[in-house]
Amino acid sequence: MTSRANNPLLQSWMEVKSGSDFPIQNIPFGIYSDSKAEHHACSAIGEYIIDLYELARNGYFEALTIPQEYFRSGSLNDLIGLGKPITNHLRERISELLQTTNNELQNHKELHFLVFKKQNEVKMLMPVKIGDYTDFYSSIDHATNVGTMFRDPANALLPNWKHLPVGYHGRASSICVSGHSFHRPKGQQKPADSELPVFGPSKLLDIELETAFIIGKSTKMGESVSTSNADEHIFGMVLFNDWSARDIQTWEYVPLGPFLAKNFASTISPWIITLEALEPFRTKGYTQEPKVLPYLEYNGERNLDIKLEVYLTPENGEDNKIAGSNYKYMYWTMEQQLAHHTINGCNINVGDMMASGTISGPDPSEYGSMLELTWKGTKPLKLKDGTERKFVNDNDTITLKGYCEKGSLRIGFGECKAKLLPAK
Ligand code: CA
Repeated sequence: MTSRANNPLLQSWMEVKSGSDFPIQNIPFGIYSDSKAEHHACSAIGEYIIDLYELARNGYFEALTIPQEYFRSGSLNDLIGLGKPITNHLRERISELLQTTNNELQNHKELHFLVFKKQNEVKMLMPVKIGDYTDFYSSIDHATNVGTMFRDPANALLPNWKHLPVGYHGRASSICVSGHSFHRPKGQQKPADSELPVFGPSKLLDIELETAFIIGKSTKMGESVSTSNADEHIFGMVLFNDWSARDIQTWEYVPLGPFLAKNFASTISPWIITLEALEPFRTKGYTQEPKVLPYLEYNGERNLDIKLEVYLTPENGEDNKIAGSNYKYMYWTMEQQLAHHTINGCNINVGDMMASGTISGPDPSEYGSMLELTWKGTKPLKLKDGTERKFVNDNDTITLKGYCEKGSLRIGFGECKAKLLPAK
C-alpha cells in the first residue's frame, strides 16, 4: 500500500527549494549532533534537519507510544527495530506535522529553533550500529567488465553468477559516515615483473559506487526471508563507497575472496532513505535468463530507478563528475539478495547492512569504479585542472550522490563523501 506521505501533491510550510534532496515526500532518518544535542534521531526537510527527540519530548508522537529514549540513543537501531507498522506511522506523522494544512507545529514558533537546524550547522553521525556487513556482486555490467579484464572475455561471468547473487561477509568496524578521511592502506602486492611480493602503500586505490540496505527486522537462526516478505525486513537504503585497493586485492583474493583490500575503510551517506519513500520509483530490471530457482523468483517490478553520480575533487580543486550510473542496472534485486542470504537459515539482525556491489551500467560513462572507467589504468581520466587519474590520488575527495526523479517529485540521498590521505 502506498504511504500517504508519498503523495506528490503534498507541500510543506517549511521552505524546500526546487532540486532539494529532501522534499516533504522523503522524510529520511539519521542521527545528528551539535553543542546542544549529543546524538538525537532526526529527519530532514529542505536545508534543515528535524530533531525527532525534541518532537517526542514535546508530545508530538504521543499516539505512537515510542519510548522517548529511542530518539536519543546514539543509533536508530532501537527505533527501526520497532518494525514497519510503527516506523511507517512515524514517517507519516512527521509528514503530517510539516504539511501546509497542519498548524500543530507550524504555530508553535517557540519550538522551531529546537526542532529545525540548518544541515550545514550540525554534524551527522553514523545512523545505525552496524552488526554484520555483507557485500554482494550483483551488477552484471560490472561483473562482466571485471571478468573480461582479468579472465576471459568469452566467459566473463563465472558459471554460478546468473544462478545466485554472489556475495561475501565484510567488516563493519571500518565503515564510516560521510565527511571522514582515512589513510591510503599499505599491504602486500605482487607486481607482474616481480617473483616475490613487495610491501608498501597501495598504488591502485579505487572506489566502488554502491548502495546498501539496512535491516530493520531481525530473524532467528533457522528462519528464511522470502522475496515476497523481504521488504518487511529492509528499513531503507544509503549510498555506499566500498574503497578498494586493487593491487592488494589481486594478490590476496585467491581462494577466499577480498580481505585487506576492502576492510580498511568504507563510506556511507548519513541519511537512510526508507523503502517506502522509494516505492514510486520501482522499475523493471534486466530479464533474468536462465530462469532462477523458485526461492529466488519474485513478482512485479522490483528494481529501483535511482540515478547515481561520482565526483572526484582534487585538493583545493574543482568537482569533476567522473561517472553516472543507475541502481536499475542491478541484475539481482535486494529482495533476492536477502532471500539468498537467509535461505540456509542464517539469521539477520536490526542494523545489519547489505551492499549492492559496484553498480555499473552498459555505457563506459556509467562504470562504477576507476578500474573500469580507466580500464585498468589504460585510459586515464582527464580532470578540469589538466591532471590525469588512473586511480585515486592522495588528498583527492570522492563524493557519491543519488536521487530519484519522476515528474516534479525528487527524492535524494544527500552525499557520501570521503577524502583519501597519504599513507601513514
Ligand atoms: Ca564492493
